[in-house]
Amino acid sequence: MTKDCTLCSTPRDVLVRCQIDESAKWHFVCPGACWKSVSGGVEDARGLNDQYPHYRYGGMWKNRNADGPISAKKPKKVKDRQKAERKARKDDQSASDEQETNEESSE
Ligand SMILES: [Zn+2]
Repeated sequence: MTKDCTLCSTPRDVLVRCQIDESAKWHFVCPGACWKSVSGGVEDARGLNDQYPHYRYGGMWKNRNADGPISAKKPKKVKDRQKAERKARKDDQSASDEQETNEESSE
């Protein structure tokens, strides 16, 4: 289930939860343009108190049912690449099969 951005009413899978005015009401805003317009694009608006005196960051809201490119997890593609790189390094040093440590005890 998506939630609407409280500023532009666009349904989103991911929103930034934040307070943006003196009502101290929690808003949910698009992580893109809307959020930048209320925070200056800085998570806690550090150093921007003059411009955004009421801004307060309250975390990210994510559509839990959304499954796809929007995820906090490391994509499998990246994991596979890192694994391949690690393996390539190991092959270079002609290290023994599955051992990743013990580098200091050799010699
Ligand atoms: Zn928006």
